[in-house]
Amino acid sequence: MFGPNDLMDVIIMKCLICGNEQLEYTDTIVSSFVMARISDSFEEGSNTKTRLCYCPKCTFAFYEYRMTDDEQSRLYLNYRDKNYQELREKYECWYTKKVNNALNNDTLALHEQQRVIEAIIAKNMKTKPVSVLDWGGNEGKTLTPAMGSEKYVYDISCVPTVEGVTGLSSFEEVKKRHYDLILCNMLFEHVSDPLGLLRQLKELSGDGTYFYIEVPSETPFKTNKFSISQNLRLLVNPIHSKTRLIRYYFKRRKLPFMPMAEHINFFTAESLRAMVENAGFTILDLQENTEKCVLGKSTVLSALFV
Ligand SMILES: [Zn+2]
Repeated sequence: MFGPNDLMDVIIMKCLICGNEQLEYTDTIVSSFVMARISDSFEEGSNTKTRLCYCPKCTFAFYEYRMTDDEQSRLYLNYRDKNYQELREKYECWYTKKVNNALNNDTLALHEQQRVIEAIIAKNMKTKPVSVLDWGGNEGKTLTPAMGSEKYVYDISCVPTVEGVTGLSSFEEVKKRHYDLILCNMLFEHVSDPLGLLRQLKELSGDGTYFYIEVPSETPFKTNKFSISQNLRLLVNPIHSKTRLIRYYFKRRKLPFMPMAEHINFFTAESLRAMVENAGFTILDLQENTEKCVLGKSTVLSALFV
């Protein structure tokens, strides 16, 4: 018999961005925090095994384990609320209430993000955008007058939008309007099917629609090890407790390389370009910027395309 399990064995992993089958693999696990969020009966030590995959052709990296829609909903339901923080601190002791509050009210990062978006659209768009959609934009706080005067947000969390921003609740509703500019910030590193999402966004393309997406610039095999220098930066930050961090560091050293956390896709400028072009778009500008945030600095890739 050729049952479902036999079929699983013959599936060949392909790069999610360029389709290359010659991938490099590193064995790891799904992190305890993610396991506890997406399953009802998780016990530490029974973490799902997975592999971190690297495509040498387009330099995209991703985890082999792809969460279902239901698992993704569970992971991001009431994101960074009290329950989220308490469960995360149980497994990652540095993630205190203070850290969670700091991330939830990170106006420094918000202003840096707005500065980069305003500069890239002023440089590349022929006319000032009027209608703007922020896909996955929560309450719509990112949107400024320079990005458009008619502001819309589509977000599965359905949180109430800030004044002056209209919340749209379904893709059908989103499709009814024309947009001069469509933003999608800090989302593609989280989604199970990034190329599929970009192809869905393409359905919203109208006469003169520009697209902007931003993702963290990350190369897990080269720079994102839990390094001493990163830890020192965290240790000198007064919002962390030093002794708990040291304990966490030693616990973390025993784990496999890069357990799967919230970022399941890692982009470089090259792989971001490959994804945008493979979805049928043309890149107008692709930048890498260092932006300040409450936990230090982050390197962000920004792409503007049509
Ligand atoms: Zn690839």
